[in-house]
Amino acid sequence: MPRMFYVIAEPCIGVKDGACFDVCPTQAIQTTEESTQYYIDADLCIDCRACELVCPVSAIFSYYDLPEQWAGYTEINARFFGKTKGGAGAAAGV
Ligand code: SF4
Repeated sequence: MPRMFYVIAEPCIGVKDGACFDVCPTQAIQTTEESTQYYIDADLCIDCRACELVCPVSAIFSYYDLPEQWAGYTEINARFFGKTKGGAGAAAGV
């Protein structure tokens, strides 16, 4: 089975509620003060869905459910952690 992970997309920008950060059991969700959104490290995500359930702006999606218009956010999330889209894809086995 390919390993699944979650991605934070555009609705987070400018909101940065942070509820996801508080509930993530693996510290996969990170940001910086200067960053406009939170990001998920695909290699640390264990597909528990806790972040998706608490996000007040529905910015978090599993990789396979990411809306087409936000497909680029897989790479944007990976890049925050110094990884490439290929790296994140490799983690998911895609
Ligand atoms: S799905 Fe779970 S492990 Fe993955 S980023 Fe969200 S809260 Fe963290």
